[in-house]
Amino acid sequence: MTEFRLFNTLSRAVEPFAPADGDIVSIYSCGPTVYNPAHLGNFRTFLFVDLLRRTLQLRGWRVNQVMNLTDVDDKIITRAVEQGKRIREVTEPVSEIFFADRDYLRIQPAETYPKATDYIPQMIALVERLVASGTAYQAEDGSVYFAIGRFAGYGRLSRLDTREVRSGARVAQDDYTKENAQDFALWKAAKPEDEQVEAAWDSPWGRGRPGWHLECSAMAIDLLGETLDIHAGGIDLIFPHHEDEIAQSEAATGKQFARCWCHGAFLLLDGTKMAKRLGNVKTVKDLREQRIPAAAVRHLIFSTHYRKELNLSEEALEGSIEAVRRVGQFKERLDDALGGTAELGEAADAAVAATSEALFDDLNAPEALAALFTFVRRGNAELDREGAEPEALDRAREAFARIDSVLDLVPDVEEEDPRLVAWVEERLAARRAARESRDFAQSDAIRDELKEQGIILEDKAGATQWRRAR
Ligand code: AMP
Ligand code: ZN
Repeated sequence: MTEFRLFNTLSRAVEPFAPADGDIVSIYSCGPTVYNPAHLGNFRTFLFVDLLRRTLQLRGWRVNQVMNLTDVDDKIITRAVEQGKRIREVTEPVSEIFFADRDYLRIQPAETYPKATDYIPQMIALVERLVASGTAYQAEDGSVYFAIGRFAGYGRLSRLDTREVRSGARVAQDDYTKENAQDFALWKAAKPEDEQVEAAWDSPWGRGRPGWHLECSAMAIDLLGETLDIHAGGIDLIFPHHEDEIAQSEAATGKQFARCWCHGAFLLLDGTKMAKRLGNVKTVKDLREQRIPAAAVRHLIFSTHYRKELNLSEEALEGSIEAVRRVGQFKERLDDALGGTAELGEAADAAVAATSEALFDDLNAPEALAALFTFVRRGNAELDREGAEPEALDRAREAFARIDSVLDLVPDVEEEDPRLVAWVEERLAARRAARESRDFAQSDAIRDELKEQGIILEDKAGATQWRRAR
């Protein structure tokens, strides 16, 4: 079996990876803060985690993934105060949108989506362990802080010279209650507005709410155990979020918190640089409204390696829309064919080998895509030859299914409005009738009528296909 390799932020190197128990990969991936629908940048990270889990499954392992919903934090509280709501009334509808967006982008659901507010007792228990071991203390402001100076491994993930940060850091007014300006809050003493929006709980240190970093450690340990196989998120989370998760988890358990840390690079959505349609595409809702197929978004995201920055451009998106159209057509041809050539079978085997090798080498999706499109090109040429071997055709179908189980690039036919489809079909029938009676003026008039509605016709090999103009 091909070796499986992943870049580990801890070592800054691509390393061989296998789950500790040889069978199930435990993954904790930091999820959305549910105060606003997630933007496309967030979804680049969630798609990277989707690629990760599907590739692990392709390798033959099972996956147990936890993705949290951060449903209590400063931004949520501010929003709730502004709108005169309780935090739940802000976070519940946004969580619904998150799940709908996830499904639209065909992101495989994680096994568990815990909400931070459902894990308050576990968070308090973790803080109690830290206070008991002497790595956490309650300050004069009533909040409980983690003392980074009492945890030897602090800064290992982000490779931060903590001494430099300390001397260089400006100490804010309220930081004087802390031992060290860089100490972070585990438990925040409640303010009146926290009570007002129902974001405060009883604890041994008085009314308060959990710090963001604490949420993830408590939920990860509770649901996946003290040592995870993989912890994943966007690159901006390395510091301080993941550094702090390591500190509080390892100080409490004495065990390594995560064996492999995986971080995805940013999606750049620079409004001024973005042209035309992309200028106002910021959320998945925008994508839907502009009828951009989810498959094309997946293609676009996967065409850049997850550790490289990706700048969304109009041209790249158009290219992806065309690319997945070809993938869909190839799939249809495979479905409809009656047999294949021996060479079709060979192309299929080569495609499986090349895509697996690429994906198992630190999720090299761009190379896997290149191998898929070689298969599409060679496969189409072989299907033109109308071979008669059913076994070769089966191999090609299986190869396609295997590759697409990770990339998931076949566009949905139903992405068009059914009423529109019915109307177009009716006009096409009228045009066929006009052509049969050699009334070409009428036939052209119907073509123009369709064009006015944004429908483009392509007459190919005796059949008429239609598509939306983009
Ligand atoms: P948040 O909802 O802010 O907690 O972020 C959810 C996830 O999205 C985190 O893993 C972030 O690292 C990630 N993220 C935020 N902005 C971007 C971006 N522009 N590109 C890629 N990932 C991002
Ligand atoms: Zn987290």
